[in-house]
Amino acid sequence: MPEPKHLSPDHERKEYRNIVVRTAAMYGVMVLAYFGQVPLWGIVVANVLFYFSVYVSVHEIGHNYQSNRLHWIGRMVPLATPIWGGVRVFQETHRRHHLYFCTDHDPWLPYYAGHPLRALFFNMIEPEVNAYNFMKIKGVDKELIVNYIYNIFFIAVGAYLFADAYWVYLISTRLIHGLAVFFFNYSLHRNKMSADADYSVYNRESWMRPIFPIARLIWGKAVVVGFMYHDRHHCLRQWRYHPLDYETLEDIRDYSPFIKEWPAKAIYKLSDIQAQRDELRADMPG
Ligand SMILES: [Zn+2]
Ligand SMILES: [Zn+2]
Repeated sequence: MPEPKHLSPDHERKEYRNIVVRTAAMYGVMVLAYFGQVPLWGIVVANVLFYFSVYVSVHEIGHNYQSNRLHWIGRMVPLATPIWGGVRVFQETHRRHHLYFCTDHDPWLPYYAGHPLRALFFNMIEPEVNAYNFMKIKGVDKELIVNYIYNIFFIAVGAYLFADAYWVYLISTRLIHGLAVFFFNYSLHRNKMSADADYSVYNRESWMRPIFPIARLIWGKAVVVGFMYHDRHHCLRQWRYHPLDYETLEDIRDYSPFIKEWPAKAIYKLSDIQAQRDELRADMPG
């Protein structure tokens, strides 16, 4: 297995820069729309173009850097659809998604389990659900409160200064965020649009190949490859690799330390798995 190429402090700075530049671009287009320099729908276009890559950068920082070492940017962005509590909230819940995937301990379970419409609903309120789960796990500390004040302050300032343009920006970002994370969370972990669909981590290379050149041009390679090879990313020792490394990785289907058979027919209860292990251990000779 190759060494991850993207773990240097230089790379960390690059991810933060990406977040700042793209967030500023989205915000900038909204301000231009307020001054009548671009039409309101330009805000939606800017969000579709710039937002996904911000999310990939948040994901990479979440996997590769300790939350107590996060740069202030990681605590405070993005400006639009607030990731309540900053990268830290994403980080805590997303790492647990990997560790407890397909069990009742996965905080991201509502985003892919059960009926697709139920999942869609929870993806639409993903930032709030993540923040709620973070508080359940870690409690509320000063930094979380500072983040909330920051988020609420910027919503108030934006709405006051830029009125309609800001609301188009806020609502469209939320819709785009919700639909994108639904597309991501649901279609990468389920094999069809139905409540009884199997659970696994699915390779979506065949979906993306036909549109690869154009998709790469629009959203950047990391976004497209990150979607295609979520299966490789889920393998136990591969979480820290950057999407730009995914092409060099293999899917060895060890998506969970608890579940060995894929696809799974249903969500497991972690306590059942634990009980089964204890039974097996009791049966072992010696
Ligand atoms: Zn996943
Ligand atoms: Zn991940």
